[in-house]
Amino acid sequence: MVDRESPELKPLFERMESEGIHMLEIPTPFAVGPVNCYLIEDDPLTIFDPGPNSGEAIEALVVGLRARGHELADLERIVVTHQHIDHQGLVQVVQHASGAEVVCLDVCKPWIESFNEESSATDRWASGMLVQHGVGEEVAVALRAVAKAFRGWGCESPVDRTLTEGDFLEFRDRKLEVFHRPGHSSSDTVFWNAETSTLLAADHLIKHISSNPLLERPASEGEPRPQELVLYIESLKKTREMPATVTLSGHGEPIVDHAALIDERFASTEKRVEKLYKMLEDGGAQTAHELARGTWGNIAVTQAFLTLSEVLGNLDILENAGRVVPTETDGVIKYSVTA
Ligand SMILES: [Zn+2]
Repeated sequence: MVDRESPELKPLFERMESEGIHMLEIPTPFAVGPVNCYLIEDDPLTIFDPGPNSGEAIEALVVGLRARGHELADLERIVVTHQHIDHQGLVQVVQHASGAEVVCLDVCKPWIESFNEESSATDRWASGMLVQHGVGEEVAVALRAVAKAFRGWGCESPVDRTLTEGDFLEFRDRKLEVFHRPGHSSSDTVFWNAETSTLLAADHLIKHISSNPLLERPASEGEPRPQELVLYIESLKKTREMPATVTLSGHGEPIVDHAALIDERFASTEKRVEKLYKMLEDGGAQTAHELARGTWGNIAVTQAFLTLSEVLGNLDILENAGRVVPTETDGVIKYSVTA
């Protein structure tokens, strides 16, 4: 839980209160810890990201709303910042209890309306992709079962309105400009209040952890996989230029100096990219999974998708720069430094 009384954070939370923004910490069963749901006390009464689909989460949401004098039924709008289940899982329950309008970015809509279908297609694609990059078949099968078990924390719900880049989310007392900032996920959306210089960034930028750019399947079969880390860096560059004085995250504390944090992220990416290059230079041709094992040991097996996302993101940067080249033999891809 965030220490709202700390000397650093107290003025930030006071400022948010004065803007009618309330951060509700909703528990999740995931390693990331609680997710931040934002209640905006304005007209319409709105929440961003209700949390994962669990009894604990709905209880925390109800308690958080009551502390502000509201019931679930009072909610008039639910906004979803991106497709991940720790953010979208309670949409259906909250929508049923309130009749609230459900709003998200156009590319996020299928992940809410057809969540099971999207997840199944992604899991099928991920299995093949893992094997292609050197993960054993049996590990890929086990991970698919784990991914399926996780789906219970997500939900499906009709979406009433979709947003696109440049739209405004209107309230009585404010309007938030909508920007698409893909990378952490393909549907990452940030909301900008130009009047107060407040940025609601969700998982696009998190203070205590770097937002993993997770691999996603291509929009249609046969197309190349989107380069999520490359997209993420492009998105971060745009966000860095915004004159935000406070940035509200999907997890953890509000951020004061987003530009400095983004610079830290750029520096650590560069470091990891060079480290991988050195591993290929010293060790010769390797699969992405071998590189992941060389970096994280056994974690690369239990967290094969996460670590492969990280390694392939870095390899994309090296490949785009012409410094490494992939070679496919018998359906398995190895990377080597270019001669
Ligand atoms: Zn996320």
